Amino acid sequence: MTETIMMHDLRVRSCPACHHLEQRMAGYFAELQGLLSRSEDARSEYADEGGLCPLHTWQLAQFSSPRGIARGHAAIMRKLADRLARPGETGVAGEASSVLQNGADGCRVCRFLKDEEARYIGAFHVFLEHVENFESYMRSHGLCLRHLSQVLDGLLDKVRKERLVRLAAERLREIGENMIRYDQKIEELKRGQLTRDEKDAYRRGIVMLAGERVVFNPFLKGN
Ligand SMILES: [Zn+2]
Ligand SMILES: [Zn+2]
Repeated sequence: MTETIMMHDLRVRSCPACHHLEQRMAGYFAELQGLLSRSEDARSEYADEGGLCPLHTWQLAQFSSPRGIARGHAAIMRKLADRLARPGETGVAGEASSVLQNGADGCRVCRFLKDEEARYIGAFHVFLEHVENFESYMRSHGLCLRHLSQVLDGLLDKVRKERLVRLAAERLREIGENMIRYDQKIEELKRGQLTRDEKDAYRRGIVMLAGERVVFNPFLKGN
């Protein structure tokens, strides 16, 4: 991961780590979908793994056409049907779905996301060691709370830690104030007077609280 990429990530109106992971995930899903469309081996491997966790199954579907989903998933349907039909495989019928549905441990996208996130946070620590990079960060929109806590965990310098936390407090306050002004201007039918900061405050606020949608996963431990 180069400094140039991180410098670019700092310029987005979102959490730099989330932004990076969102891009990596989009690439991963596009590649996986292509693979499932093209390759019989990939489809059978996907079926053997039990597919993805529920959240990532839906996210993959968003990157696929109806035909792509159909082509990529016929094998796993067959495989699961066979398993359910085998006596003694899943015990009582009522337990079947929890036995067959993939969790974070068996989901390759969960593993990919976890590894990529750890790699990015590690690289971010190195990036922040340079004074000019650190100051660039202080001018950015800042990390979401989840990624901030991950960065703080590995940071030894107390002064820098405090500055990062103070910045997050400032950003939260700013976004909150922009949210109020946004609400007021909409109420007063002054949409034309909205500033850029007011317009996307609702989105930036949600990112601060919860991270970008693609990065949050209720099935992944430690979220
Ligand atoms: Zn984030
Ligand atoms: Zn998953």
